[in-house]
Amino acid sequence: MSAEGRDDFLPYNRPLIGEEEIAEVVDTLRSGWLTTGPKTKRFEEDLARYVAAPHVLALSSGTAALHLGLAAAGIGPGDEVITSALTFASCAHVIVHLGATPVLADIREDDFNIDPESIARLITPKTRALMPVHYAGQPCRMDDIIAIARTNRLFVLDDAAHAIGARHGERPVGSLADATAFSFYATKNLATGEGGALATADPEIDARARVLALHGMNRDAWRRYEAGGSWYYEIVEAGFKYNFTDIQAALGLHQLRRLEAMTERRAALAERYRRGLADLPEVILPQVRPEVRHAWHLYPMRIRPAALRIDRGRFIELLTERGIGTSVHFIPLYRHPYYRENFGFRPEDYPVTERVYESIISLPLYPAMTDADADRVVEAVRAVARAERR
Ligand SMILES: *Cc1c(COP(=O)(O)O)cnc(C)c1O
Repeated sequence: MSAEGRDDFLPYNRPLIGEEEIAEVVDTLRSGWLTTGPKTKRFEEDLARYVAAPHVLALSSGTAALHLGLAAAGIGPGDEVITSALTFASCAHVIVHLGATPVLADIREDDFNIDPESIARLITPKTRALMPVHYAGQPCRMDDIIAIARTNRLFVLDDAAHAIGARHGERPVGSLADATAFSFYATKNLATGEGGALATADPEIDARARVLALHGMNRDAWRRYEAGGSWYYEIVEAGFKYNFTDIQAALGLHQLRRLEAMTERRAALAERYRRGLADLPEVILPQVRPEVRHAWHLYPMRIRPAALRIDRGRFIELLTERGIGTSVHFIPLYRHPYYRENFGFRPEDYPVTERVYESIISLPLYPAMTDADADRVVEAVRAVARAERR
């Protein structure tokens, strides 16, 4: 039997769904209103309060939120958008889908977030927007990034797929940039299976994104099925089908209520890893900047290749053999054939991302894990490091 198939295998991720979520989904199914409706509206209001943003638009995915955030800001052909080299592919895809050009900035070695100095070097007269990614759930250096944006009149769209619940000082992620994209994908800190949201303080961005999210129909088209709703609508843009459903909202309403407790649990598990691994010379543990609250979506541990006889790939295989599921976040965008071939990105231009990529392993980190699960991970990492040290 493969290592993954054994009974005691600790999976890399597992969502935490409670009885409240299950009962709310059942209630939604019985209500007769399955797609965008009253529960979506309630979820948007609750989320707006939580992230301290005046407007929140719930959407079918985090990718949809990134796409509409840029679209609503008017990004299009001829524009350049700067994002991180170490992120998920959809960050660059949405830039390409708008006919704009993705530009990749290198990251910082301390928190793996986009490096404001790298951003500053990449700005050209065509640069229109910045898309910082709060990697692993730790907010980027937003003071520096916003200062660059203001000087150069750039739109800032935060990718907060990892960072719901994170804060920069007292300010929640969701209130730091011109607009913020969240993801509620099954593995994310708040999970609705698939889903996302766009948060903004700008009523025009919100209004434009709302129209684009539902075929380009003019305002509140979903109300046309309500009592007193009219059959009449007008198409004012070539929009998309990116709306959120009340079945997703049923999950989201209760996930949001448990989010603080789930984030605290993630932080406690991260602290358990830190205590268990801090003295191990073969690994480098994630650092948290004092001015932030980390949402701990990921626990990106680095190995020290010079201290080991094996590389990162082999380290992962040996953890799998010991029943521990892991992942790598992310394969840098410039390494994917599509981006390499179409945009001419070269690994040499991203020395920090290269070093980090070759050494990172995301350890399991989710609130359904027990202390004993975390201790098993610590033991496995220590055993592999001990056996393979140089
Ligand atoms: C998950 C993720 C996305 C995309 O979110 P989806 O909801 O899966 O579309 C975007 N950026 C980052 C950094 C992510 O981790």
